[in-house]
Amino acid sequence: MTADTRATDPADHRYPPPAELAAHANVTQETLDTAAADPEAFWAEQAKRLTWGTEPTETLDWSNPPFAKWYADGTLNAAYNCADRHVENGLGDRVAIHFEGEPGDNRDITYAELTAEVCRAANGLASLGVKSGDRVAIYLPMIPEAVISMLACARLGAIHTVIFGGFSADALSTRINDCGVEVVITADGGYRRGSPSALKPAVDKALQSTPGVRQVVVVKRTGQDTEMAEGRDVWWDDVVATQPSEHTPEMFPAEHPLFVMYTSGSTGKPKGILHTTGGYLVGTTYTMWATYDLKPETDVYWCTADIGWITGHSYVTYGPLANAATQVLYEGTPDAPHKGRWWEVIDKYKVTILHTAPTAIRTFMKWGEEIPAKFDLSSLRMMGSVGEPINPEAYNWYHEHIGRGRCPIADTWWQTETGMHMIAPMPGIETAKPGSAMTPVPGVAVDVVDDEGHSLPNGESGLLVVTKPWPAMLRTLWGDDQRYIDTYWARFGDRYFAGDGAKKDEDGDIWLLGRVDDVMNVSGHRMSTAEIESSLVGHEAVAEAAVVGASDPTTGQAIVAFVILISGFEASDEMAAELRNHVGKDIGPIAKPRQVMIVDELPKTRSGKIMRRLLRDIAENRDIGDVTTLTDSTVMDSIAKGLKK
Ligand code: ATP
Ligand code: MG
Repeated sequence: MTADTRATDPADHRYPPPAELAAHANVTQETLDTAAADPEAFWAEQAKRLTWGTEPTETLDWSNPPFAKWYADGTLNAAYNCADRHVENGLGDRVAIHFEGEPGDNRDITYAELTAEVCRAANGLASLGVKSGDRVAIYLPMIPEAVISMLACARLGAIHTVIFGGFSADALSTRINDCGVEVVITADGGYRRGSPSALKPAVDKALQSTPGVRQVVVVKRTGQDTEMAEGRDVWWDDVVATQPSEHTPEMFPAEHPLFVMYTSGSTGKPKGILHTTGGYLVGTTYTMWATYDLKPETDVYWCTADIGWITGHSYVTYGPLANAATQVLYEGTPDAPHKGRWWEVIDKYKVTILHTAPTAIRTFMKWGEEIPAKFDLSSLRMMGSVGEPINPEAYNWYHEHIGRGRCPIADTWWQTETGMHMIAPMPGIETAKPGSAMTPVPGVAVDVVDDEGHSLPNGESGLLVVTKPWPAMLRTLWGDDQRYIDTYWARFGDRYFAGDGAKKDEDGDIWLLGRVDDVMNVSGHRMSTAEIESSLVGHEAVAEAAVVGASDPTTGQAIVAFVILISGFEASDEMAAELRNHVGKDIGPIAKPRQVMIVDELPKTRSGKIMRRLLRDIAENRDIGDVTTLTDSTVMDSIAKGLKK
């Protein structure tokens, strides 16, 4: 993108598929047509990507909605599908994981080695009495043992619940108790920003209020001093390393629970999402291959998400490994020891597919394009984005400065609940529009409806629904069927209510507008937080923006914007006024924020999402709600203090 084209609306750029990619694309228009004609037959076909103990003869059982069963008479083992079978197919020497530790230590793990490690870990957990149906919490840094632990649980039929390694003791104990966890796998610590950061003390603290936990397995990562509770805590090396590297996998029914993952908590208290084995694995295996146009023989894939959230489950552990892909696993932060670390990693491992989040991209924009410019990123051919709407400015920057104008971007819309990508452009077919997630993936059907559930025509915005069951859909909320029904199904019957606002443009392509809870109503006009944020970030002085609707005596709701400036720009009343006017000019006078508050930081979840509900609390002078999923709980204090100044 040159300076000239920047002057035009960044949302108007168009990115047709590169000819070479299109010529060899995994997904063609024919795939889309076949899938749309008969989704169930399509998903029956995709089940063949897995190796089953007993092949399923049924595909979908929707006789008791909203409780779906997929492939119900089939049996399989998820760990076997992600490891052993590749070795049996002659791929034992292929690298599964290029592990890159933050301090620069690294280790390549082949599929043969991964299989042996998973077997040892499964034997180790079994020796501690872990069996099918038990719950195991995993609280680890991004090290190979995180993936190995997940697969070891799956191998035994034990249900894992991964808790982000940076969460507090509080967040840990709530999840452990909600899920009825008996065994916790953790580490002494991990490396963050150049130094070891302890993990075990948070576990010790959490376990003071978790009577159900009987055993803790501790991986030695940093070697820091670690207290071990007699009779409760054991070292990974003592229970796992000494075990045999063979283990016969048991085949479980397709609907056997695989894991519980708690949602990010962007809109409220996290929900325990239950995923089961067969449908989840079919859905993630297929979308991993389709959305990224994955060629497992030649690609080197890197998804920067932590395993502590759903992207790390579907597109670090299960999706890539079930496809026998080679991937990079990086432990640390993007700025340790320098701000070019990611680009160095891409160059080192010749990464071909990069998947990350808009919040990371905006951070790199703030740091400046001269940093990635110093590195050879010519190996990249495909990129992805997930977690939030990506504003067109960030999209175009990503395309130009990271993808060097060559790589298609898949903006993937999905949720912890959906388990797999739901809306994303297929890279060989679609001409992508920056800021739009485009169209549903093959086999998935979505719609945009009004409050009464009537389908809206192109050009209008409303609520996003999924109109047909899909294999990786959540099965329920852990221990709370009623809340499952109430949250997702009560509103529109047999259509899944996603909780997100969306718009179909004139071509029928889908633009996500943010949470329904975040859609503002200003003097009777519905306004999207995403649209106003995108306008603010389009101003040269703004690095990040979060917009909320605060109740207002005259307008019903008033727009309040929180912004972080790019370094070099000064916070002042003039700047705030300029930004208000900028939005007014860009979108219209009605969209002009009542207030623009310039802050140093924004409250974010661990997966990088802005927690608007906390900002709404501030904007409305309320006490602040549940903060257990915040990256840094002091952020709220500093914002509140800064505003009083
Ligand atoms: P909670 O449900 O507890 O409030 P959460 O919704 O943030 O937390 P996740 O399941 O991690 O938890 O996030 C899913 C949500 O993220 C989606 O509902 C959507 O709002 C947003 N999202 C994810 N990907 C995209 C995308 N590509 N474009 C727009 N929004 C996205
Ligand atoms: Mg959600």
